[in-house]
Amino acid sequence: MFSKIMKWFSNDLAIDLGTANTLVYAKDRGIIVNEPSVVAVHTGEKGMNKVLAVGKEAKEMLGRTPGSIRAIRPIKDGVIADFEVTGAMLRYFIHKSLSGSKLIKPRIIVCIPYGITQVEKKAVKESAEQAGAREVYLIEEPMAAAIGAGLPITEPSGNMIVDIGGGTTEVAVISLGGIVFSISVRVAGDKFDESIASYIKKKYSLLIGERTAEQIKISIGNAYPLEESYKTYEVKGRDLLAGAPKIIEVSSDEIREALADPINEVIEAIKISLEKTPPELAADIVDNGIILAGGGALLANLDVLIKEKTGLPVALAEDPLTCVVRGCGKCLESLDLLKQVSTSS
Ligand code: ADP
Ligand code: MG
Repeated sequence: MFSKIMKWFSNDLAIDLGTANTLVYAKDRGIIVNEPSVVAVHTGEKGMNKVLAVGKEAKEMLGRTPGSIRAIRPIKDGVIADFEVTGAMLRYFIHKSLSGSKLIKPRIIVCIPYGITQVEKKAVKESAEQAGAREVYLIEEPMAAAIGAGLPITEPSGNMIVDIGGGTTEVAVISLGGIVFSISVRVAGDKFDESIASYIKKKYSLLIGERTAEQIKISIGNAYPLEESYKTYEVKGRDLLAGAPKIIEVSSDEIREALADPINEVIEAIKISLEKTPPELAADIVDNGIILAGGGALLANLDVLIKEKTGLPVALAEDPLTCVVRGCGKCLESLDLLKQVSTSS
C-alpha cells in the first residue's frame, strides 16, 4: 500500500545529457523534456555569468547574439567544458521536470558521455543533488543506448552499438552487462555540419551558419548514392566576395562529397573497434550485427554505407534520438538493472 502511494508521488527521472540534446524521461510519464543542450549566458561587467535562456530558446540565439551574450553548448565535444553552465542547464531541466509534490525527493539517473573524467562525473552528480535529487546514478551512454535499443546486454553474447551524436561517436562492445571495449571519437553530427559549411564556402564562396548547415544535412544529406535519394536544396548565405546575401542550389550528391571525410572517420572508428574486440565476441557481432543509435544515425543511407564497408549486418535502433533516454528510463523501472549498469562514481 505504502509503496503504491510512493509510486504515485514518485518524481524519479532519467536524463540523457547529450552533447546536442538533453532528454528527460519521467517514471510512468515517458519523455517529458526534449531540448537542445544550449545555454544563453550574459557576461556582466564584473565577469559574472547570468543564464538568460536554456534549451530551445537558447538555440534560437546561436550565431545571433550581440557581444555580451553568448549561446553556449557546454558539452559540445563530449567533455564538460564549462562546469558552471552545465550545472545550470542540468538544474534547469530537472526543475522543469519535477511536477506536483516536492515531498518525496526524486531518484535521478543521468546518462553521461563515455569516458568523461572523475571530476566531470562528480560535477554532474553534485548538480543533480543541488537540484533536489535523493540519489543520483550515472550510466554511461553506450550502455543506455544498448538497453534502449533492446539489446540483450546481460547475456554472455557480444553486441556492438554505435551511437553517433552531435559532438561524439561512441562505439562500444557490450556483453554480460558491461562495456567490454569502447572508443569515443569527436566526429559526429557537428563535424558533418562543419564539413558542409566549409564545402559550400570553398565551392560557392558562400558563408552559412551552423544551423543552416544542419538543415541542409537533415534535408538532403546522405552517405551513399541511391537513385531515389537525389534531391536539391536552396541555400541562403552571405557571398564572401560581394558581402551581400546570396542564394545557391546544392544537390544531395554534393553534400555526400562534403561529408565523405567525417563519415570515413566514423567508419574507421568502427573498424578499429572490430579489430580490438576479443575473437569470441567478434564472432557474436558477425551474427548479431551492428546497431546504430543517436541522431547522426539518421543521416540517409549511413547504414547502407557501414554495411558495405564492414561486411556486417547493420540496423538502426528504433527512434535513434530517444534511444539513450529510453534505455535510462528502463533502469528506473528495474533497480537490479540499474545497480548492474551504473558506474561507481
Ligand atoms: P547527443 O546525444 O550528442 O546530444 P543526438 O543523438 O541528440 O546527440 O544527435 C544530434 C545530432 O543528430 C545532431 O548533429 C543533428 O544534426 C543530428 N540529426 C538529427 N536528425 C538528423 C537527421 N534526420 N539526419 C541527419 N542528422 C540528424
Ligand atoms: Mg547521445
